[in-house]
Order: sequence, then structure tokens, then C-alpha cells
Amino acid sequence: MASRVGPGGRRSVQVKRRDRSFGSAGVSFALPEPDAPQPPVSPSTLRPGTLYVVATPIGNLEDISLRALRVLREADVVAAEDTRHTRTLLGRHGIVRPLVSYREQNKASSAPALLRRLETGTVALVSDAGMPAIADPGAELIRQVVAAGGRVEVVPGPNAALAALVASGLPPAPFLFAGFPSRQRGDRRRRLADLAARPETLVFYEAPHRVHETLEDLLAALGDRPAAACRELTKLHEEVRRGPLSALLDYFNATAPRGEFVLVVHGAEGDGAGATHLAGSLSAAISDEEMDALLSAAMARGERMRAVVADLATRSGRARREVYARWQTLRAAQETRDAGE
Ligand code: SAM
Repeated sequence: MASRVGPGGRRSVQVKRRDRSFGSAGVSFALPEPDAPQPPVSPSTLRPGTLYVVATPIGNLEDISLRALRVLREADVVAAEDTRHTRTLLGRHGIVRPLVSYREQNKASSAPALLRRLETGTVALVSDAGMPAIADPGAELIRQVVAAGGRVEVVPGPNAALAALVASGLPPAPFLFAGFPSRQRGDRRRRLADLAARPETLVFYEAPHRVHETLEDLLAALGDRPAAACRELTKLHEEVRRGPLSALLDYFNATAPRGEFVLVVHGAEGDGAGATHLAGSLSAAISDEEMDALLSAAMARGERMRAVVADLATRSGRARREVYARWQTLRAAQETRDAGE
């Protein structure tokens, strides 16, 4: 970072490419000089007695709205999941406000003081990333403010579930946000089985080290539906991988999942009984490349040709002889490669 002092005692900071967020490359932010007096705060435009729920970036630091910055600048106090993380975000925009910790572990003890503050003042609620209350602390505070007759105003912005839903190319409505699948396998499988007949596009959050297991359970519970694994959205290594669940599973068998993930899965079609009802849409979803990747993976695992061809023909809605011809072509190419080694 390079800095120089500008008008009003403020430092202009050039953020270089090595910063984690690629969106911040070359963008200048104003940080107050540590010892310089803060510029006078203009009268707050916020309404006393209001909890402002403020969305913050899920990766790319440019994804913060002008309104979010104004509310954060004017709120009496900012309630944050991780005060250090939020202090950094505010610092990048030259904002210095009192921060109070509000997180899963201390929300019961932290809420009363925030509610008292709201009797006459304003509180801005932020989480580490995205929209507070969506798989984040905040829902309980919002419930308490509403129950106490207080005002809640949302400052909308980034959210990983919606970004992934849109990027997936699957039907965006209706959709069902399922949050994080249970970590207990039995419980997770039961809950996924409950979702098998739902017609909505399903959206899940998942940690990278559980992506593989969850894809296995999704495939077993829902059948081989079109899906998308959306990772590192808005960041440098953003990737949206689309295909049937089996293809995603094959891919992540070969490539370790890294970063933050949202999994999006097609809803049940027809009577919701599973994969066979999806043959039409699957055939549209499996490209020639994906079909060849699935055949090659099965071949490498030593699976029997007849069973693989029959299964993929049913799942994709393609003619058996077409899938068989692809298998033969891939087999011949493999034999040529083997002979050359
Ligand atoms: N409140 C956040 C929101 O509005 O999206 C979600 C917070 S939740 C604790 C964190 C999870 O959201 C991650 O484990 C991942 O599943 C998802 N997530 C957050 N940022 C993401 C990103 N940039 N790309 C993909 N998934 C992301």
C-alpha cells in the first residue's frame, strides 16, 4: 500500500494488486490520519430507534453501496460479528465508529445493551460477509427489535445464495434456501430426503471440506439432477461449475474443493419422484464434453461398459447407441495413448 496526506488531514491509500480482493486493485480509499482530528460529523440522516441491517461484501470489496457506507458512517454504534474484520472494512472507507461485538456465542448477553441503545439511538448490524441473518447471526436481534416494537430497516446488498442462484442458470423461481446441510450424516440424509419432492430450485451453503460428502448425499437423495457448484463468488478465483450432480462429484473426486461454496440443485419435476423425471432437462444440461468426462471417469474406475452406457443413456435422454459410440471412441483413443507409452 502507498499513502499520501491529502486535504482535510486524510490519507489517500492506493491498494495494490496483492490485496486479497481483486476488485480493490488500484482503487483509492481515504483513511483518517491516526492523530488528525475527525472531520465534523454532519447531522445524522438516520431515524432514531431503528436497527439498520447492512449487507457487506462477500469477497469483492467494491460491492458495498453508497447507502451502506452512509448508514455505517452515521450510526451511533455498529454491531459486528467480528469487530476486527469490520474495523478493517470501515477503515478502508475512512469510517470510524464505536463497534460492539454481536456474534453467535455472545448474542444473548450483547442484545440487551443494543436494545437499550435503540430506545433513543441507531444501531447498524453487519456480519462478516453478505446479508446479516442469512446463515449468520442477526435473526435473533431482528426478532427482538420487532417484538419490542422497534423499527428495522434493511440496507440490501451482496448475498452468496442469490448470486449463486442467478449464476447457476437453473430456474431462479421458486427457490428454497436450505442453509448449511446438517453436519451429522444421518440427519443430513433425512433432511435431504425430505427435500426430494420439492419443486423449488434448492440452494445450500457448504464448507469446502464437506462439499464431496454433501454431493454424494444429494445424488443419493435427489437423483442425478442438473446442479451448479458456485465457489469464491465475486473473488479472484470465482468459478461456476454446472452439470448433473454425478459430473460435479466426478470433478471434485479429481480436484479438491477450495474456497467458499454454494451448491444449487434443480427442483423435482413431475411428481417429484427423482431423476427419471429429469431426463429431458438433463439431456439439455449434459454437454458432449461432460458426457465424455463422465464416460472417461467410469472407464478409469473400471466400470462395466453395458451398465455405464445404459445408465447414462437413461439419465441424459440420449440414444443408447450414441452413448455406446462415444464410449468406443474414447476407448480407442485410450488404447492408442497406452500403446504410445
Ligand atoms: N450472510 C452471508 C450471505 O449473505 O451470503 C452468508 C454467511 S455464511 C456464514 C458463509 C457461507 O456463505 C460460506 O460457507 C459459503 O457457503 C457462502 N459464501 C459466502 N461467501 C461466498 C462466496 N464469495 N462464494 C461462494 N459462497 C460464499
